[in-house]
Amino acid sequence: MARRFRRGVQGRFTQMNDVWDLAVVGGGPAGAAAALRARQLRPDARVLLLDRADFPRDKACGDGIAAHCRDELALLGIPDLIADYRPTQRLAVVSPGGARVSATSARPNHVVPRRVFDARLVDAARARGVEVRRHHVRSLAVLDGHIVLDGTVTARAAVAADGANSTMRRLIGVSPAPDRHTAIAVRGYADVPADDDVQSIFMQQDGWPAYAWSFPIGDGTANVGFGMLLPRLRATGRPGREVLHGRLAELLPHLSAHDLRAHHLPLSPGRPRPGSGRVLLAGDAAGLINPLTGEGIYYALVSGRLAGEAAVRAAADPLPAYRRELRKALGRHLRTTDVLALAAQSPGFIDAAIDTAARRKEVFDLLVDVGLGAGTVPLPLALAVVRRWIASGVRRR
Ligand SMILES: Cc1cc2nc3c(=O)[nH]c(=O)nc-3n(C[C@H](O)[C@H](O)[C@H](O)COP(=O)(O)OP(=O)(O)OC[C@H]3O[C@@H](n4cnc5c(N)ncnc54)[C@H](O)[C@@H]3O)c2cc1C
Repeated sequence: MARRFRRGVQGRFTQMNDVWDLAVVGGGPAGAAAALRARQLRPDARVLLLDRADFPRDKACGDGIAAHCRDELALLGIPDLIADYRPTQRLAVVSPGGARVSATSARPNHVVPRRVFDARLVDAARARGVEVRRHHVRSLAVLDGHIVLDGTVTARAAVAADGANSTMRRLIGVSPAPDRHTAIAVRGYADVPADDDVQSIFMQQDGWPAYAWSFPIGDGTANVGFGMLLPRLRATGRPGREVLHGRLAELLPHLSAHDLRAHHLPLSPGRPRPGSGRVLLAGDAAGLINPLTGEGIYYALVSGRLAGEAAVRAAADPLPAYRRELRKALGRHLRTTDVLALAAQSPGFIDAAIDTAARRKEVFDLLVDVGLGAGTVPLPLALAVVRRWIASGVRRR
């Protein structure tokens, strides 16, 4: 097996006995999940996790960890990863037209700063035998059926979990989500009463779809932010920073946010094919953010886990297995949110959905499952919302 490549990419020499079973690029939730799963299934697998940053590192995010994520953490063998953070079941949503629902969700959600959450995931991967290196990946080649990164790292398969602006995705020639399916959001931190435990979402008619949020952490601070679709932001003709920071200050005037940081959100209706050959895309690199809520951590954990699984179970040709399992896990959900995202272009549809959720707890629970997990909408409930939507349209005329 100790066969020498004649010459590695970029002129360096690589030895076949340096081959990793799996190279994961990106140490966010998707990459960490892939690495953890690979070692969980094959404890002897040589797994390398590369990230351009050292951990702990910050990441622009609302820090909302849905209950569904804890199911994934349990599957990955780390059920108590965030057990020391305060759980909360209280959710309040104001629709673009002012319909309100405030209710207790079926299961507790958490708010954990990504600086903490991601570092814990990477530590868990390291503890499971994954080698973690700081390395900014810039080039990729396929040599003798292997993946070679930057001419120095050779692997049988790779998981590209390098986020919304994925370099790996570009290197394998897969297009990013089109602008119309890309959102942009800014987040900051603000002081709130320590006993504030309501996760609040304030949807906005102006520039719809757009919303602000306040997600209290439980330590007297909250993650606050504002997000909108990229084309809507461009249509303002003003600098992005001015619009995002301005709207956040305007919508949550009582909270003074610091540490503001913005990032793109590739929404799932624009998702590309999930890889090419032995390179599997996961998380934001695969464009898996929920278009109704902007939640992406759950989908990053699921897709990362499935990519890690396929990479070690079907190393020679992992993409078909990955595609199949991804479809099984998220296919119906993604088709549901594709359709709902179309309907949601009319703010009246969301008003009707929130209004229905305020009256019927099972609709509220279902919306939570669709917005934060892998939920789908049974036809009778879809029809109930559509009836209310039509009725409110008739009343308005
Ligand atoms: C403002 C905002 C608020 C959000 N709020 C929420 C929320 O409350 N809840 C939720 O579930 N989702 C939320 N999301 C979405 C969520 O942040 C993402 O879906 C999630 O981070 C995706 O995880 P990931 O592992 O795919 O990518 P990331 O978390 O982006 O991780 C990618 C990693 O790849 C590394 N990397 C990038 N390029 C390279 C390279 N070339 N070489 C090596 N390493 C590289 C980066 O350093 C990074 O560590 C929000 C997003 C934004 C922008």
